[in-house]
Amino acid sequence: MRLTILGAGETGAGTAILARKKGYDVFVSDAGPIADKYKQMLQDHAIAWEEGGHTPELVLHADSMVKSPGIPPDAPMPAQAAQRGIPILSEIEFASRYTDAKMVCITGSNGKTTTTKLIHHILTRAGYDAALAGNVGRSMALQVAEGKHDWYVLELSSFQLENMYNFRADIAVVLNITPDHLDRYGYRIEPYAEAKMRIGRNQREQDSLIYWRDDEHVPALLRKSPTPAQELVFADTRGGRAVAYVKDGVMTVERPSTFFMPVADLSLRGRHNVRNCMAATLAALAARVPREAIKSALADFPHVPHRLEPAGEADGITYINDSKATNVDACFYALDAMTTPVILILGGLDKGNDYSQIIPLVKEKCRALVYLGADNSKLHDTFDSLGLPVSDTGSMAECLEACRKVARKGDTVLLSPCCASFDLFNGMAERGNLFKQGVSELANQKPAE
Ligand code: ADP
Repeated sequence: MRLTILGAGETGAGTAILARKKGYDVFVSDAGPIADKYKQMLQDHAIAWEEGGHTPELVLHADSMVKSPGIPPDAPMPAQAAQRGIPILSEIEFASRYTDAKMVCITGSNGKTTTTKLIHHILTRAGYDAALAGNVGRSMALQVAEGKHDWYVLELSSFQLENMYNFRADIAVVLNITPDHLDRYGYRIEPYAEAKMRIGRNQREQDSLIYWRDDEHVPALLRKSPTPAQELVFADTRGGRAVAYVKDGVMTVERPSTFFMPVADLSLRGRHNVRNCMAATLAALAARVPREAIKSALADFPHVPHRLEPAGEADGITYINDSKATNVDACFYALDAMTTPVILILGGLDKGNDYSQIIPLVKEKCRALVYLGADNSKLHDTFDSLGLPVSDTGSMAECLEACRKVARKGDTVLLSPCCASFDLFNGMAERGNLFKQGVSELANQKPAE
């Protein structure tokens, strides 16, 4: 059996090693350069590879193909493979054939990483042998190749779900579906939503499907294609099909078993994170994790970097790093979570943003706005008329200086920019790290005399 692998990153290299171990004749092809680390891994396992382009005769000479989720299905190689009837799988689909571990899978437009790490944290706290994979952590295929685990907690993007067929999630979570990556789906939400709902494909009566009652798309899609799985629904308030909700400040779960925990005891802040915590709790209860382990894990879960992450304090001003908020929806939830006056840092590469969703919250919560981007004209056009003080900045140092000037004791400076970062930074992590570094320098400075 010959397997070709398109893309030699974390998932491609991992898949190659697992496939080799299972006796496949493996060939790996990457359109760009392959990182040294992955080259070494392939060489150590005597796996043939090419980089800097695809040789069609080698790539298409295959019984099946595993494609990195980043490669669109209509790129020349996958398109030609499909034409020839070569099955195209995702890493997760391939790896799942070689393990009988139970699968907890998380998808959604926002909150995947947080919820995936939270569920992994709860299972590990309870002593479960659980591995983290998918969009976070190490390649699942590599972990399957290396040894046995009882559980996998997998963050799945719509791109990964596209090439999954026989995979079955014991516990599936769909957090929410809001517009994102629509460029890959012909600018239509339906195919994107349908790709996400593939997470529930093949589920049976004994499995669980966890979702948010108030999502615009998920309940409607489930009415169209009902699932045999046990539906566990969470919502901000009691009512409808919700079995998990908040009542009088207490996170309350009725099914699959009862659970109560004051929202104030959760380590994560913000309404969106309460939802993530409810989803994680339902998943943990479905996995039969004891209540006490869930409670202590929810209480001490460390912040995921760049997601409403406390970045420090200087001169009585609190700084929060939400650099991962690269769309308007994420910023909405960040603002919603704020309890003191906010200096909001906005800007970067705009993906066609509609800011109207956050204008009421900006009016209600912000004392000033600081624009951080190569081109801030759209921000000026949208927000200047609100009458708040605004400043234009083009680097993190300028931005923090502008924040410091306008902020007063007790305020919060929030980096939740609604935009991608590539105009000024090498990614949202660099933007967040520079912010944190700047804040720690401010904190170490002697206060002005
Ligand atoms: P993902 O992995 O889906 O991108 P993250 O956990 O990395 O999600 O969070 C991304 C951003 O989305 C963060 O800025 C966070 O504040 C916001 N967010 C997290 N959970 C939710 C949610 N349930 N609903 C809406 N926004 C959320």
